[in-house]
Amino acid sequence: MSETMGLPPGTRVLVTAGASGIGYAIATSFAAAGAKLHVCDIDKTTLDACAAAHPDWGTSLCDVSDEAEVERLFQEAEAHLGGLDVLVNNAGIAGPTGSIHTMDGPEWRRTIDVNLNSQFYCTKLAVPLLQQSENPSIICLSSVAGRLGYAFRTPYAASKWAIIGMVKSLAIELGPQGIRVNAILPGVVEGPRIDKVIAARAEVAGVPHQQMEQEYISKISLRRMVTAQDIANQALYLASPLGANISGQPISVCGNVEVL
Ligand code: NAD
Repeated sequence: MSETMGLPPGTRVLVTAGASGIGYAIATSFAAAGAKLHVCDIDKTTLDACAAAHPDWGTSLCDVSDEAEVERLFQEAEAHLGGLDVLVNNAGIAGPTGSIHTMDGPEWRRTIDVNLNSQFYCTKLAVPLLQQSENPSIICLSSVAGRLGYAFRTPYAASKWAIIGMVKSLAIELGPQGIRVNAILPGVVEGPRIDKVIAARAEVAGVPHQQMEQEYISKISLRRMVTAQDIANQALYLASPLGANISGQPISVCGNVEVL
C-alpha cells in the first residue's frame, strides 16, 4: 500500500512513542515508504531494541510530558533528520479507570500531561521546522474517546477531546503556511494495550474478561477490532500527496465504534 502513497523520498518524520505499539507500526510503515525516521520513547529497553532493529533511525530516550526532555528530543531529531516534514504526536497513556470521585489529582494530571501537554510541547518546536518543509504535516493521535463519552475513563476522554480542539485550531492557524494538521481516532486496536484496558474495565464492572471483550466488539458496526497497521496506513495517507487537501479533520479508523 505504501508504494501507491507516493510519499516524497527522504521525507523526514518524527514519531513520539515510536518504539512499540501504534507508533512503531507508523514508523516502520513510513520507513518502508522511503522516509527517514527519528523516534523517541520513555522505555529504554524497548527503545534499545528498536535502535538495534533499525540502525538508520535516530532514537531518543524521552518522556514527552516533560518540556525540557522534549527540547532535547528536538535537538537530537533535528541533528539526525536535518529538518522535519512530518510530526506524529503519538504518545498517549490509558490513564486511570474508575469513578471520578475515586481518582486522585496526580493520576488525572499525568494523563493530561502525557496525552495533551506533550502534543503542545512537540508541536511548538515542530512548527518552525515544518515552515521550512515542502510537504509539512502534523498528525495527532486522538481516539474514538475523542468523539464519544467514555464512562469511567474521564481523564482519557477529556485529553482526547482536547486534542481535537487543538487540531482544529491549528489547522486554521497553520493552513495559510501550507501546514496540514489532522487527528487520527483509533478505535479498539488489537494488542496488549487493549487487553489491559478491557481487563481493568472488566474488574470495575465485576464481569469476566471475555464478556467485556464481547461487549466492546458488539458496539463496533463492523464487529471487529482494527490493527495498528490500519492506523499506520491512515497516517501515511495523510502525510502523502494523496492527503494534500485534507486538514483540520478528526478521522476515525475504528470500524465505526458506535458507543463506548
Ligand atoms: P502503548 O501503550 O502500546 O504505548 C506505546 C509506547 O508509548 C510504549 O513504547 C511506551 O513506552 C511509550 N510511552 C508511554 N508514555 C510515554 C511518554 N510519556 N513519553 C514517551 N513515550 C511514552 O500505546 P498504543 O496503543 O500504541 O497507543 C498509541 C496512541 O494511540 C496513544 O495516543 C493512544 O491513546 C492512542 N490510541 C490507542 C488505542 C489502542 O487501542 N491501542 C485506541 C485509541 C487510541
